[in-house]
Amino acid sequence: METLRTLPGDDVRQILWRFAERYDLQMIVQSARSVARGPVARLVAEGGRNTHEWTEQKASLLKVFDQAGITAVFLDPQYGGFIEGPKNLALALLAFELAWVDAGAATCSLAGNLALSPIHERGTPEQQKTYMSRCAPGIGDEKGQLWRGAFSLTEPLPYVGVDASLLGGKVRVAEWKEGEEPILQVDKRGRFITNMDFANFVTVAVDSGDERIKGSCMVIVEEGDPGVFDRGAPTLKLVHQLSSTRDPIFSLKVPAGRIIGGYTVKDGVIIPNYSHGEVIEAVFRRTRVTVGLMTAAKLLSAVEPVIRYHRQRFRGGDLGAPGTPRHDLGLQQKQDVLHRLVDVWATGEAAASLGFEAARLFDRLDPLEKKKDATFAEQGITGGRKQLKALRAVEKDALELLKLSGMPESERDGQRCEALQSNPLVEFVLLDSVANVLCPACKLWNTGHGANIMREAVSLVGGYGITEDCPGFLGQKWTDAQLEATYEGPEAVQRRQLTVTMTSGLFLAQFRGWMAELRRIASERPGIGACTLATAMELWLWTLEYLQGAKDADGAALYHGQRQGVTFAQADALCWLLAARSLILDVMELEKKGPENPVVAEGLPGLVQFYSDLCYVQSARAAGEVGRVCAELVYGYSRPAAQGAAGPEDCCPGEGLEDFAQLRSKLDRCLSGARLAKDRAAEALTQVMIPEALDYPA
Ligand SMILES: Cc1cc2nc3c(=O)[nH]c(=O)nc-3n(C[C@H](O)[C@H](O)[C@H](O)COP(=O)(O)OP(=O)(O)OC[C@H]3O[C@@H](n4cnc5c(N)ncnc54)[C@H](O)[C@@H]3O)c2cc1C
Repeated sequence: METLRTLPGDDVRQILWRFAERYDLQMIVQSARSVARGPVARLVAEGGRNTHEWTEQKASLLKVFDQAGITAVFLDPQYGGFIEGPKNLALALLAFELAWVDAGAATCSLAGNLALSPIHERGTPEQQKTYMSRCAPGIGDEKGQLWRGAFSLTEPLPYVGVDASLLGGKVRVAEWKEGEEPILQVDKRGRFITNMDFANFVTVAVDSGDERIKGSCMVIVEEGDPGVFDRGAPTLKLVHQLSSTRDPIFSLKVPAGRIIGGYTVKDGVIIPNYSHGEVIEAVFRRTRVTVGLMTAAKLLSAVEPVIRYHRQRFRGGDLGAPGTPRHDLGLQQKQDVLHRLVDVWATGEAAASLGFEAARLFDRLDPLEKKKDATFAEQGITGGRKQLKALRAVEKDALELLKLSGMPESERDGQRCEALQSNPLVEFVLLDSVANVLCPACKLWNTGHGANIMREAVSLVGGYGITEDCPGFLGQKWTDAQLEATYEGPEAVQRRQLTVTMTSGLFLAQFRGWMAELRRIASERPGIGACTLATAMELWLWTLEYLQGAKDADGAALYHGQRQGVTFAQADALCWLLAARSLILDVMELEKKGPENPVVAEGLPGLVQFYSDLCYVQSARAAGEVGRVCAELVYGYSRPAAQGAAGPEDCCPGEGLEDFAQLRSKLDRCLSGARLAKDRAAEALTQVMIPEALDYPA
């Protein structure tokens, strides 16, 4: 049987992640890679990470980012950027490439985008023009200084953290002369704010401390504003040492025109057009995807150094002479290291597939969101509540479209179907309901589960793994992954969001469609894990519906916002399914498009076989997780039979749950062949060719 010949290169990745036709994105990948594996890798190797202080060497990376075009990726062409249209996939690829070597460097670059994001998503046209062009290399510096920004939401205890509504920062009216723009007093303390060593402006979240200002908002403060712009103490962090983090203090006077998105005045009260919550929701739903991809990059970057270490490990002494299996395979003679590396690889692939799917989805969603806003503006539907109400009506149409699409062509109303399909609002709500799930799922699973699996990668190189000079910087990547699981909202925030979004009727209707699609794939393409995954999805859905209607032994509802023991576990289980599904879809794409690319076509059968085995491994693992979580939730809230009332083998009869038991048993049987796939993938690891040496630090 053909197997993997070489590690997957750019041609394979471009097909898997669907940017084979995007030369602009391929260029970004190349230039980010040369920065990551050049100056960034050298700085890490020289010990640049051994301090939390912001050093000259770290600062020098900022200019390198500018020169390589990395800083400008976020910007629209009219403000000095070079990519037309949505940039979610571009930024995702950028983060992936930088984090392949060091996620602190990636964060340093991306935090500038995070600072601009509130302005990009909700700023007025003037705000966008001013700050974007100031931050554009080649425009900003020509005017005297290139600006850099920071984003400040988190506050010292006991204020904003996971709970973003607990704002301690305040905005008040400092001065308001008749007929003139009000001057605001902004008081904000930040905690753990990235880029604070060098930021010239900061987008800060504040609440009203004045009856003349309504609610909360985000405001732009600048270094030169009158008052205190104190960068604060450096954060004594243990991770992401190539980024700058401090606890700043701001007490500044700024014109009201700095309220992000503008404001209106009614009866002498300033009403910001967007609350801070509305701004950060629009920001985080995009930026969290890139964070998820950073951890995916780390996992995949571990494969090559671990294989090399294993092969070279036993070459000492007579027994390890050239030509012996001990020389050629080293530790790879032991099945456990191979199986564990297969798990690391499969997790990394699934995390990347999920993350890039989410990024591409946002690229499709962005223009539709603009169309939606324009349509609503024309119809006079302004404000969050009114829009939500209007969208609810569109959701009905979207559900109808899904129903019609599932019917045989001869039976459905084709005209109605076409009309619904061509309605951008319908397309918007369909994609939006999926984006609301994929974004938190990718942030949660990639970083949280990814950090656990990164520990496995570290363990596979023994003591070397926890040294500074471990090839591939695996030890640092493991601890860095924990920050990715924490910042921009830790796991609890993502689980809380999923609890709500994964139960939306529109999402679940599409989820059912995905199950049917996987069944189709399973019948055409056995051995890729699609059948296992579809059955696991069925079990998850059964469990959700059961939990939503069931009560525990004390009569309390099971599926309830406050009952995180139920809802969070169910959210975790869903993420496993989504990641495994994204991987299967990407591998189907590879099989389809691979023959068109001469580089990929050579050796394609072995490549596809290996990737299919990874899919099966990941689907089986997902099925195991889902089975465990669902069984605990379905059976775990009933009381065991009283002692003596039943035999020891029947302490939990599970009456009325026969359907569940049958489905669970079917799922277990669906695992047939999964371990054979793992054995095959493990065998492939012993044969795949790898370069003589890692290409970083050069
Ligand atoms: C290096 C670094 C850089 C950062 N950069 C920035 C930045 O640039 N800008 C910025 O604004 N912030 C930044 N942050 C802050 C980061 O986003 C916060 O640390 C994070 O959002 C969590 O807030 P917290 O630390 O206050 O945790 P807490 O709110 O104290 O939560 C602690 C833990 O309690 C549990 N928990 C809390 N609430 C709930 C709940 N409702 N349900 C269930 N469990 C819950 C969770 O396990 C959670 O992880 C950065 C942090 C670090 C470490």
